Amino acid sequence: MTAGPERRLARCSVTRGWGIVEVTGPAVHRIKRGDRVVLPAHIFCGVCFNCARGDSAACLRVYPGHAGGAYAMPGMGPFRGSQAALVRVPFADANCVVLPGSLGDDFEDDFVLIADAWVAGWHATELAGVRPADTVAVFGAGAAGLLAAYSAQLRGAGEVYSVDLIDERIDKAAELGFVPVDARKGDPVEQIRELRRARPGSRLPGQEEMEGVMAGIDAVGFQARDRRRPDQEDPRQVINDLARLVNPTGRLGIAGVFTATDAAPAPEGGQADGSLHVPWATLFNKGVTVGFGRTHDRRYTTHLRDLIISGRARPSQIITHHESLEDAPSIYDRFDRRVDGIVKAMFTHP
Ligand SMILES: [Zn+2]
Repeated sequence: MTAGPERRLARCSVTRGWGIVEVTGPAVHRIKRGDRVVLPAHIFCGVCFNCARGDSAACLRVYPGHAGGAYAMPGMGPFRGSQAALVRVPFADANCVVLPGSLGDDFEDDFVLIADAWVAGWHATELAGVRPADTVAVFGAGAAGLLAAYSAQLRGAGEVYSVDLIDERIDKAAELGFVPVDARKGDPVEQIRELRRARPGSRLPGQEEMEGVMAGIDAVGFQARDRRRPDQEDPRQVINDLARLVNPTGRLGIAGVFTATDAAPAPEGGQADGSLHVPWATLFNKGVTVGFGRTHDRRYTTHLRDLIISGRARPSQIITHHESLEDAPSIYDRFDRRVDGIVKAMFTHP
């Protein structure tokens, strides 16, 4: 007899999606009280039609009648946020990623990024098919964008360009070794083309047509800013730029969030039902492969954990602030207003 989801619970004391297991339900077998675990943002059962294929972001059981569920995301079920002192974890055996070590060790800030931003960034590089020696451009240098660029580096990309409009993010991109592109200083597509044209060395015949990038990533989503009027949104801005920038035969990974309904559509270009004008013909004529969607955490979490354990990756380099959970409302307010240089904040619970 199969136990229902309510019997597959664990409760964890958490700091931003990770913590120590406090208690487990009777149907939980693998996870034990005292385990140190991280919780991916998307919740999944681990065994349904989609989960069994690794497509865990489209789990068919966690939010019945829908493909996929997540903590505190619009349209993804009744689950409350995982930034809390205690979190109820459905399907705990599938969702809890067990971590080595102990509280307060050097890997804490790295592990917590498996809960959300790093898997999103890694997934973006999967969608964009990033391969060794690729040229890659990531639009958006927030946490997921920076970690997409970082993942591209880990996968052996030859050149990684990071595009944004905010000083602190551009500075962080440079600090991490990406080529920063400030979109306030002009068309980022032309800036990247110019940088690529300036590279020394001979070219293969016809290569001047390939001075864009082979892999482009949208880490912004529907709240993209109109480059000419940065105080206004234009959800078409990034896809239009990427369509111009990507080389013929290139690949795009669209990992920024697009919602089914936009409560506050941009005055020009925004659609309340989430539909957008996209330069389809440009993408078709270039033979571009386009990948979309939320991250299938189940495919990546243990691999990313092991990249940390093995010393190959330190994603915590993107973190700029450590705050207590009680200060979360203030941090979110300042983050929304883009003040105090917040790129990524960690919340801790005493
Ligand atoms: Zn499932």
